[in-house]
Amino acid sequence: MEISHIEHIGIAVNSLEEAIPYYEKVLGLKCYAVEEVTDQKVKTAFFKVGQTKIELLESTDPEGPIGKFLEKKGPGVHHLAFAVENVNEALNDVAASGVQLIDKTSRKGAEGLNIGFLHPKSTLGVLTELCSDK
Ligand code: ZN
Repeated sequence: MEISHIEHIGIAVNSLEEAIPYYEKVLGLKCYAVEEVTDQKVKTAFFKVGQTKIELLESTDPEGPIGKFLEKKGPGVHHLAFAVENVNEALNDVAASGVQLIDKTSRKGAEGLNIGFLHPKSTLGVLTELCSDK
């Protein structure tokens, strides 16, 4: 597996409406997309910082993954996403190294990317996502 860069950093927020002005007015970033990902039960907002994006995640369902995260930990950094050439190959590589996977094969995430998550139990507490645009 070869990681080219940090594709995005996922940040759980209570409300996009409350969070976007901080990123735009204080940090001077521009929100270029807001997208709902229904199977993840989230609404996302994206900002570019060089080659890396910030993905804000607002829960649309308290029983969804972000809803549960917010209830347990409150708002904050949720996951780190690395860009790889091929997500399925990368998932196989890390699984062969003994890493527990959340997604055994890739699925569609925000922005049409192929994504797969590694289990934080196997990644020293950091929920890790691998993604590619193919
Ligand atoms: Zn993500």
